[in-house]
Amino acid sequence: MNTHLDNKVFDAIAGEAKRQAEGLELIPSENYVSKNVLLANGSILTNKYSEGYPGRRYYGGQEFTDKIETLAIERVCQLFNCKFANVQPHSGAPANLAVYSALLEPGDTILGMDLSHGGHLTHGHPMTLPAKIYKFVTYKMKDPETGEIDYDNLRAMALEHKPKIILAGFSAYSRSLDYKKFVEIAKEVGAITVADMAHIAGLIAGKALRNPFDDGFDVITSTTHKTLRGPRGGIILTRESEEIAKKIDKAIFPGIQGGPHMHTIAAKAVAFGEAMTPAYQEYCQQVLKNAKAMEAVFHREKIRMIGGGTDNHLILADVFGSLGVTGKEAQTVLDEVGITLNMNSIAGDTRKPLDPSGIRFGTPAITTRGFKEADCARVAELLIETLRNKANSLKANARPDEDGFRDDEAKKKIIKAEIQALAEQFPIPESFV
Ligand SMILES: *Cc1c(COP(=O)(O)O)cnc(C)c1O
Repeated sequence: MNTHLDNKVFDAIAGEAKRQAEGLELIPSENYVSKNVLLANGSILTNKYSEGYPGRRYYGGQEFTDKIETLAIERVCQLFNCKFANVQPHSGAPANLAVYSALLEPGDTILGMDLSHGGHLTHGHPMTLPAKIYKFVTYKMKDPETGEIDYDNLRAMALEHKPKIILAGFSAYSRSLDYKKFVEIAKEVGAITVADMAHIAGLIAGKALRNPFDDGFDVITSTTHKTLRGPRGGIILTRESEEIAKKIDKAIFPGIQGGPHMHTIAAKAVAFGEAMTPAYQEYCQQVLKNAKAMEAVFHREKIRMIGGGTDNHLILADVFGSLGVTGKEAQTVLDEVGITLNMNSIAGDTRKPLDPSGIRFGTPAITTRGFKEADCARVAELLIETLRNKANSLKANARPDEDGFRDDEAKKKIIKAEIQALAEQFPIPESFV
């Protein structure tokens, strides 16, 4: 590739590639895509306008784009066992906005998971457009120590507020939901059930986690770039109602989007194809096993986990409560040793969102690199060791720990070296099938 004309951009891309190769990526919404996904995403399809849907476009020259979009739709419907799919959403947030605008009038009510208990920004954060258009009411966990949703309260809220949509789904919650209960309650009040599976869609496609459609959910929205291991993008799936599916198509185009990104749709089709393979199903099982291995270390080391542990790919830990290190301090010091994760508010957090009590991390990306249970347990140990070291250095009367280290920096160097060695042992693969 002739990149010399724009070294500024390509040098920065090369730097990012190196960063991705050398560090350990524990942000649970990130992953590594295959070379084929990259090739499709970087293809000449970006040159093409295809407003509309296969067979009914507003521009000519759609012989190949129609094939590609149809293939993406067929594959994703097979993966999730549903009748209709819209593969055009540019990302997860516009997918959710499109569903709201398809099924609601301004001022209508949505009942979703409270943001402080794991819900996503697009589920009613006051700074978002949806929150300005629709009324959001929320349900919560009954007890943050077990993570169980308070279904009695969910039902009471539904009866009181008569929402048109009941929304299941989260970005910082580690337990399984009882989808049947959501559907029962929605039936009682005549609400449509929408599952925002952005984080766990891949694990559902890979048959490692339960599919909300099997319990009667009406609609699923998702990103395609998290556990699903595709390009950055979104999808909206409808189980069986053609009426709902048609409204959603109109809400995406011309409702909130113009021309579809055909290069991204081609990359989605490639990722969906990969997700149909036995190798991908094995990957999903390993993601869960690896999260369990990290959970075991956190239990053993008595670090509090919100929800008491994990049923999926992520863990939310109360590092401030357990170690006296804030989420922001943890994120920063872990970055310094080569572990990337994010700070996160926890249920009932007394600290502010920009320096909360928790950290959130997960196993999708390191599992793609080939990490198994023992490797993940070691990562969890190194993570905790780094935070203990930080906690010690924060204490006024710092005493040397068992290893005889008092100095924050010396120990950090040793940890960083081990993390780099681990990362080198597991190069980022180019193909999964
Ligand atoms: C990530 C996420 C989104 C938003 O996806 P973007 O692609 O960042 O717009 C929406 N909902 C949930 C639950 C998510 O985790």
